[in-house]
Amino acid sequence: MGITLRSIKAREERPFISFVVPCYNEEESLPALHERISKVAQNSTDTYEIIFANDGSTDATLKLIRSLCRKDPHVKGLDLSRNFGHQVCLTAALDHARGDVILMLDADLQDPPELLPEMLDKWREGADVVYAVRSQRKGESIFKLLTAKIFYRILKWSTKINIPVDTGDFRLIDAKALQAMLSLRERNRFLRGMFSWVGFHQEPVYYDRDERFAGTTKYPLRKMIHLAIDGITSFSIMPLRAAALLGLVSATIAFIYSIMVLHTGIYGGGVPGWASTTLSVLFLGGVQLVTIGILGEYIGRVFDEVKNRPLYFVREVIDQDHETNPGGESTDTASRDA
Ligand code: UDP
Ligand code: MG
Repeated sequence: MGITLRSIKAREERPFISFVVPCYNEEESLPALHERISKVAQNSTDTYEIIFANDGSTDATLKLIRSLCRKDPHVKGLDLSRNFGHQVCLTAALDHARGDVILMLDADLQDPPELLPEMLDKWREGADVVYAVRSQRKGESIFKLLTAKIFYRILKWSTKINIPVDTGDFRLIDAKALQAMLSLRERNRFLRGMFSWVGFHQEPVYYDRDERFAGTTKYPLRKMIHLAIDGITSFSIMPLRAAALLGLVSATIAFIYSIMVLHTGIYGGGVPGWASTTLSVLFLGGVQLVTIGILGEYIGRVFDEVKNRPLYFVREVIDQDHETNPGGESTDTASRDA
């Protein structure tokens, strides 16, 4: 069943812009980020908000967000009840965005806010989602560059959804495309895929990705692998098919081999056959374990979905207009739409 989106007003010359930023231990980058966003925003529009969502940071990030809120009425803070991870933190920030257009960007200044005017032009020309493609990525290890390149290509190949390659979460979104994306409340979130899935008119802009402004990456190998698995399993059942194919190939081989075994059994001359037995047991065992693992990966995701827990909890909304909101707020579709 489809969802009809409420109509949104026409594209203005100077729209209300929401900047949404997930922050996890970003104390060193925040002041510079705030300054650069504010400058770009003031040149492009009259009304804007900057939403900093604190994803359970253990450094002074929250304190900094509070002080930015006190100094600048455009800033809003969101303090999540713990670390929920980048994609959920970004979702929380997006849930609270009220703009006509929304710019999602990382806190570490790898996504230059100065790209905003170019993105706004595309939006005014009719694009609903303007996604930023990384032509170059500075300051990343060869390992990260290579694995990211391979991942985006496997993802593209394995799914029917047209997910653009070399594109992160840095994008400008029209409110109605955002509303559509936010109606998907799945737990294992891969936002860049979800934004492709909802469709709408999408346009690329190209940019060189800068080095991290300060601090170290909050995406260690473990989190990168998680994101990659989420990306592929949320948008493709190709791994299940590959597992079935692997099973078919090994069953065929086993069948041919069993004819040989039978032949030897009947006509005698059987060698002890230790090596071949061991090999086939190991091979089939391996295939079975891989297959079960892939099944488990999908079943785990089904389990996550049926629990139907809220995506996150907000500990506090930090806003000059209405002061703190103690007791927390759970936000899933129901409470958001209420
Ligand atoms: N981030 C987050 N929660 C996490 C990990 C990261 O909110 O658990 C934020 C982080 O603060 C940054 C963005 O996600 O704004 C991207 O993280 P990072 O720059 O470390 O990733 P990389 O650019 O190295 O892939
Ligand atoms: Mg980064």
